[in-house]
Amino acid sequence: MRFPLLFSPFRIGAVEFKNRIVSTGHGTRLADRLVNDRLVAYHRARAKGGAGLIISEVAGVHDTAYYVGGTLKIDTDDALPGYRRLAEAVHEFDCRIIGQLFHAGRELAMMPDGSLPVSYSASDTPYERLHGVPRAMPKALIAEIVRGYAAGAARMVEAGLDGVEIVGAHGYLLAQFLNPRINRRADEYGGSVANRARLILDIASAVRPVLGKRLMGLRFSASEPGLPGGLDEAETHGVLALMAPHFDYLNVTIGSYSAIGSTLHTVPTMAMEPGYVAPLAGSVKARFGKPVLVSGRINRPDIAETIIAAGQADMCALTRGLIADPELPNKARAGRVEDIRACIGCNQACIGHNHKGVSISCIQHPETGRELEYGELRRAQILKRVLIAGGGPAGLKFAAVAASRGHDVTLYEREAQFGGQVRLAEKLPGRAEFGGIVLHLRREAERAGAKLLRGAALDAATVRRAQPDAVILATGARPRALDLPGGTEGAHVVEAWQVLAGRANIGGSVVVADWRCDWVGLGLAEMLARDGRKVRLCVAGYMPGETIQQYVRDEWLGRLHKLGVEIVPLARLAGADADSVYFEHMPSGEPIVCEGVDTLVTAMARESDADMEGELADFAGEVRLIGDCLSPRTAEEAVLDGLKAAWVL
Ligand code: SF4
Repeated sequence: MRFPLLFSPFRIGAVEFKNRIVSTGHGTRLADRLVNDRLVAYHRARAKGGAGLIISEVAGVHDTAYYVGGTLKIDTDDALPGYRRLAEAVHEFDCRIIGQLFHAGRELAMMPDGSLPVSYSASDTPYERLHGVPRAMPKALIAEIVRGYAAGAARMVEAGLDGVEIVGAHGYLLAQFLNPRINRRADEYGGSVANRARLILDIASAVRPVLGKRLMGLRFSASEPGLPGGLDEAETHGVLALMAPHFDYLNVTIGSYSAIGSTLHTVPTMAMEPGYVAPLAGSVKARFGKPVLVSGRINRPDIAETIIAAGQADMCALTRGLIADPELPNKARAGRVEDIRACIGCNQACIGHNHKGVSISCIQHPETGRELEYGELRRAQILKRVLIAGGGPAGLKFAAVAASRGHDVTLYEREAQFGGQVRLAEKLPGRAEFGGIVLHLRREAERAGAKLLRGAALDAATVRRAQPDAVILATGARPRALDLPGGTEGAHVVEAWQVLAGRANIGGSVVVADWRCDWVGLGLAEMLARDGRKVRLCVAGYMPGETIQQYVRDEWLGRLHKLGVEIVPLARLAGADADSVYFEHMPSGEPIVCEGVDTLVTAMARESDADMEGELADFAGEVRLIGDCLSPRTAEEAVLDGLKAAWVL
């Protein structure tokens, strides 16, 4: 047993867990108010994969506990059948399930009809991130909400869950009451530490009697870095001293949704250290002597094992680890660590989808969130011989799935390495883990029996000789030739990929023209600024990184600010000469001139590399384009294309 502590049973009260691996509560956007088949299938896959505990996502306890579209509600009995099916599905695999009880307080952006909400909080303290001003909660409403928690807990017990978790973390209602800079009440719910903790204690007192032997946990942020006036560790311990005795376990996290700089911590990106919240959990465990769960970028079983061995926590959240690979626990337990598809912290399809209002998935594992469609891999009825051109994410995913279904698959990659653009992305500062996509997909394809050839281009002559049943074109995309109204005569212009590949000489004063508004412009600007260059990042959009997940972007913007990178928004590239670059201000059409420029780096639109499609016009078999070769998009769509094409082969 490689991870003896992680796979040792653990008991809290009357509830025993078969191991220490937890999927913590996270928004999936799979359900619409009520637990449905999609949400059951999603959690069932993680329970089947060996998780010890699943904490299901937040459920509103009161009419005013609305949050975002589809948020679960537990304030009426129509929630019961769905939760019942969820509990049964998870218990089938000897996995425990706890439900989160929730009120967002002032953290409300919009109502279902698109209107701005009337939100409630401890006081009418304005909040920065969503630009709102809540109403101070009347005492009668507080009493109603406390009753809502108790009624919600009773329903979860009736549905067969193993306990409830009170969400006091991440700047939601209960955290708003705890913070004296937000809670300015003059009644018994404001002022002293005891008064600010009173709401949580009222809830605990109301909920406990309905639980029987079920568990009651408290999730809270052990610190709120980046939130002006956020609670620090010492203040948190002050309120925990009152609250901890009333709960069966403490679920330690970090950060608050109330401010941009703090919300980054709620789902930390690949630029943050794995397991960085564990020391905070360790001091909670040492001081309060309660069972402790911890989250915070724990993406591998060895990190969890180390945290438990250090006595910093009893159970570890590998939530995104389970999103990326539901079978992570079973693989770790069997010692198949190399087979684990570790989460790379890109945030694109998990929390990124949540922010877009669409169902959860994973950039590496598009089956996530699509369990009803792609949950059970079936052997193909008619086995085919398939050749694939291109060993990037699309081609590799196709190879892995098609070979798993029994097809005879050979993949040709013309470069010496697999990966396509991913190999360039991983060269950027803080993006080294991005290469994990290719590493994992390559291993999956090899395990499935696909033949993977490197330094070998598939051409039309080879196809004619081999006469396969199908050819998959996954040859990616390439930079598009510049076509600017002002031309670039006399200018030193290099393309982003040349820079990333280390094939460009760059001057001391650089303008990065960023049409894409993704990770490329941000990463190049950081890379060049770190080398001591003066960098101006001019974006054809509202902000750099506009198309990527906001925590990834915001954390990156923080780094660029510290490096002194000048950002010019809404700038459409128009031309360049020997020492100036010319842009057009997008809304007004006025010129923007950057003078004293040595090098212009362009990160513009790409074009599909689909030349081979024409060369195969007379091929009688099936030809299918996937990934950027079909249409330049991101690695997420490339992997999804690979899955979909292989599924129907
Ligand atoms: S989308 Fe990225 S961050 Fe989210 S689970 Fe998958 S690999 Fe991890």
